[in-house]
Amino acid sequence: MGARPRGRSRGHREPDRRRGPHTAGPGARPGPGADRGRGRRFARRVACYAWASPTTSLGLLAGLLTLASGGGARVRRGALEFHGGFSRWFGGRCGFEAMTLGHVILGRSAFMLDVLRDHEQAHVRQVERWGPAFIPAYLIASYLAWRRGGHYYLDNWFERDARRAAGEDRR
Ligand SMILES: [Zn+2]
Repeated sequence: MGARPRGRSRGHREPDRRRGPHTAGPGARPGPGADRGRGRRFARRVACYAWASPTTSLGLLAGLLTLASGGGARVRRGALEFHGGFSRWFGGRCGFEAMTLGHVILGRSAFMLDVLRDHEQAHVRQVERWGPAFIPAYLIASYLAWRRGGHYYLDNWFERDARRAAGEDRR
């Protein structure tokens, strides 16, 4: 799987830690346990990105096409978002406003990415769970929904899960 950044400054006892929003409080000093917890969280994030990377690489390809065709890119909540250009055209062709491929989210516009962020981020969490099996599993879920007489998109388990996570089903 993906390479883990092992580097010089990976010691567990650096005296000067500037980034520590989780350890706020006057005089609070993170002990070695907190450092270990942070290290473990970081390792878990790296593993999530590596596990999702086969799907992400497809997204990056679409992202490059988006940039080459005049679109834009930005980072939001740990995902790379692309909008306009190829993403707009592709969304129009396939009938979506936004689409998640691993840690890449393609949107027809920056505005729609803002509107749909919670939903698309739920898909990001799904890819982190399913890894390389995400796209096949999504397609199978569409097929199963259709076979049961439902809608291949609306009744797809992954879509229902994302709507639930984004609080859309409570309306
Ligand atoms: Zn969705």
